[in-house]
Parts: sequence; structure tokens; C-alpha cells
Amino acid sequence: MITTALFDIDGTLLHGRPIAHGLAMVEGLNQAFDLALAEADLLSVDLAGKTDLHIANDLLDRAGVESSDREARLRRWCALAAGVFAAIADHHDDPVVAPDADATLAVLRADGLRTSLVTGNIEDIAHAKMSRAGLGDHFPRGQGGFGCDSTVRAQIVARALERGGVSAHQAVVIGDTPRDIAAARGAGCRVVAVATGFATAGDLADADAVVAALAEVPEVLERWRSSD
Ligand SMILES: [Mg+2]
Repeated sequence: MITTALFDIDGTLLHGRPIAHGLAMVEGLNQAFDLALAEADLLSVDLAGKTDLHIANDLLDRAGVESSDREARLRRWCALAAGVFAAIADHHDDPVVAPDADATLAVLRADGLRTSLVTGNIEDIAHAKMSRAGLGDHFPRGQGGFGCDSTVRAQIVARALERGGVSAHQAVVIGDTPRDIAAARGAGCRVVAVATGFATAGDLADADAVVAALAEVPEVLERWRSSD
């Protein structure tokens, strides 16, 4: 029986480019590694569906950083980037909330499902984005999987299952990229792909279901729950 819906953030619950988030990641790396990266460097790596830790490692590789204490510095970076985000987010346009996000999350919760986040975002940035988007009440702290949990997205899904105390067949991942699909598969979960991000329905064909809008998600989960 499905009890838990695990939501990606960027491209799924929020649309538009997360500018403040990108700047915070870059500035956090500059602080943690004493670098002078610019926002343009962020555009030099493929971002879609990667965890923030994965992106940070890509940027460090591209910059030729070979520090023996990379892991320890990256742990500091997770906190530094979240701090930069909190300081600058008000100075940038808010991302656009998917029009049906709040209503969809409310319907799922009314159906008795728990809603959690499974995102490549750093945990504090993820929660700040949700509260800025007016979706914070759907995602209490202490659950979900986040960008500094692992560079491997499937392990972030596994972390969310562990924190939620549920098995893979009790949870469904909802995301917008082929990496969300692969991560759900890697953790043994079913996955609904929402074709509202940059990926096309064709890119998302490996999902268990592909929908055009978040509002269609409750119907899919209802169907699966009644046939489980
Ligand atoms: Mg996404």
C-alpha cells in the first residue's frame, strides 16, 4: 500500500530558474575552497536532476581543485551555501510555484498520504524554498532526502525512505527528469514523471506514469493504491 509521496522541487513543485540557489552554491564554494567562481561557471555543468553535492563536485573538478580535505570542506559548504541563500533570496525573484502544487499536495494529504521532499537541494535551502512558496506546511522538517545526503540521487531516495520509516513499495517518487526516474528505480520505488520541466514526455518514458500536470498525480496514485 502506498503511504508516502516523495516530491522533487525544481521543475516539479517550482518552475523557473533557481537563480538565488545557484548564486548561493557558487558563493558557498568560493568561501569553503577560497575560489573565485562566477555564476557563469554553474552554467558550464549539466544541472538537471543532479544533487547539489554532485554539482559542487563537478564545479570543483572543472576548476581543477585538488584539495585533500575536499569532503570536510564540502560539509562546511553545505552550511555556507544555505547561509548565503538565506541572505540573498529576498533580493531575487521568487521561483514560480507550479499552479496546482498547493491543491495537489492538499488532496494527497486528505487522502491519507504523507508528503515528503526528495530533492537534490541542500536541506535548509529546500525548506526555505518551500516556505517562500507557501508550501512549507506540507513538508515538516525531520523527513525527506536532500542534496548533501549523497552525490547519488538513489541514495537520497533511500534516505527519505529510512527517515519516513517506509519500504520502497510504500513510496512513490514524483519528479521531472530522467535522473529522478533512475533514482526511484535505484531505490526500488515507483515513479510518476511530470512533463513540466525541461524533459519531454519522450525523455520520461521509463517512468511508471507520465503526467502533464501535478494535478493529475492524485488520480494515478489512487489507481495504484486500489490495485495494490
Ligand atoms: Mg527537478
